[in-house]
Amino acid sequence: MAQQPNIRYYKPKEEFSLDIRDIESFVYDMSRCIKCKGCTWVDHTYMPGAKFMTRCPSATLYEYDAYGAYGKLRIAHGMVEGKVDWNETALEIVYACTLCGACDVGCKRNLDLEIELTLEALRVKAVRDGVGPMPAHKKIAENIQKQHNMYGSPHDKRSAWVPQDAPPADKADLLYFAGCAASYVNQEIAQSTARIFKAAGTPYMLMPDEWCCGNTVFSVGMFDEAKAMAERNIEEVRKTGAKTLVTSCAEGYRMWKVDYPKLLNMATEDLGFEVLHLVEFVDEKVKNGALTLTKPLDTRLTYHDACSLSRLSEPWTPYTGKRGWMGCVEPRLKRRRGANGVYAQPREILQEIPGVDLIEMPRTRENAYCCGAGRGTKEAFPELAQFSANHRLEEVKEIGAETLVSACPFCKNNFNQAVRDNGDPVQVMDISEVICASIEA
Ligand code: SF4
Ligand code: SF4
Repeated sequence: MAQQPNIRYYKPKEEFSLDIRDIESFVYDMSRCIKCKGCTWVDHTYMPGAKFMTRCPSATLYEYDAYGAYGKLRIAHGMVEGKVDWNETALEIVYACTLCGACDVGCKRNLDLEIELTLEALRVKAVRDGVGPMPAHKKIAENIQKQHNMYGSPHDKRSAWVPQDAPPADKADLLYFAGCAASYVNQEIAQSTARIFKAAGTPYMLMPDEWCCGNTVFSVGMFDEAKAMAERNIEEVRKTGAKTLVTSCAEGYRMWKVDYPKLLNMATEDLGFEVLHLVEFVDEKVKNGALTLTKPLDTRLTYHDACSLSRLSEPWTPYTGKRGWMGCVEPRLKRRRGANGVYAQPREILQEIPGVDLIEMPRTRENAYCCGAGRGTKEAFPELAQFSANHRLEEVKEIGAETLVSACPFCKNNFNQAVRDNGDPVQVMDISEVICASIEA
């Protein structure tokens, strides 16, 4: 009788954590990637056609498998096994990626692998190994260190955006965090937000000394620097006694709600205050009658889901547990699959405005295609940011939208630049401006 191979069907359960400080936390995820490319293509059940079927800006532009999530995981796995070392190309592949989370959503349709966290851990490893981040990112970090904003603009001008007709209160339950972009580059967003608070009859205060949220620093893998910013900013908000922090920036929203808790190994619900995006605040005020949107806006309009307000915005809970046969874990791990992002509120607000004809793009909600700007991409890889914006604008033009609305200054700026460069007949607006324009004075 032939001898049976000695196969172990059962392995003891192994302890693991979702800890981006240690790339080894994600060896399971790297090694179980089956190269199915669900992280590259939008599932055909969601696709009305073949024209807009990719979800990964990096793989779509660079056209090499190495740039897809499966390639990045392969590189990371090779590094952990000691078979691959950093070089210029590996570094570029790791950073030429918008960290948009589209791959994570695609992969979790089948396998529940933690792709976004693995990509974040790989950047933390790059910094700890002394090779990352990219020079453009180091410049941003330097700006933040000197002036507490990513542009290096004078810190004492940070609140120059405050409108005389809607000033902040000294003390209020609601604290508005404008962020670097709305404080310096997109003051129209901060001003619209202040006027919305006034129209809703809700006083707002500002942080006594607002600093950058640290989005870029965190996104490029500078864990320790980002953690220090999280500690400082959370403490400053707690000292004000604010019950709710509202921001009009999608990137800032993700930082406060998801990545600060991740950096500090705590749950979102333990922050000590609620974090809302402006669209959540407005949605509630419209529904309870405190805010009415009555001025018409006659336009055929489409809404772009900013990654950080949508698939990346689900709350964070630290996790340590055991993994056994077939990857089953205990205790139960509530996966963040992107389906519970902020999707309904902006759409319901826009549909409330008379004259607005809201139409959807083929790739929408958690399958939306990233604008390409965020998380240090535009600064270090402008060609990827430009490609992504143009690719998304093709979708906007395909459905015949006249106005493209998002809820993030980084999306607005990137789309605006592309529209200007191309001469596209598309108006780009932030949702704060649209809401403000529909409020009766
Ligand atoms: S979807 Fe997941 S398993 Fe499939 S190739 Fe992408 S990362 Fe690998
Ligand atoms: S995060 Fe976005 S750009 Fe990066 S690999 Fe995933 S889908 Fe591609």
